Amino acid sequence: MNRHRPGSNARRRIKARLLKRHGSRCFYCRTPFAAPADATLDHYVPYVMWPGWKTFNLVPCCLDCNQDKGDLLPWPLVWLLLAPAPATPSPAGLGVAA
Ligand SMILES: [Zn+2]
Repeated sequence: MNRHRPGSNARRRIKARLLKRHGSRCFYCRTPFAAPADATLDHYVPYVMWPGWKTFNLVPCCLDCNQDKGDLLPWPLVWLLLAPAPATPSPAGLGVAA
């Protein structure tokens, strides 16, 4: 896994590919970018949790959304991770006789 930050030319190529993939809009607030320079690259799963620069974990977003999200997991991913967990464990699930 390449954990090193790509150089500026490589980041520019990555950003161009991501802007094309996401329609030149912020991934989170959907605001269109006036220029590619307005877009930042965000690690969808935060870099601290999944280091690397693979494009499948990168999205273009505006600076405000990038700073607001920080190192947090996005809500849709949190919901997916929590979905299999029952809201209230049943006594049978805990190995306790009812
Ligand atoms: Zn945004």
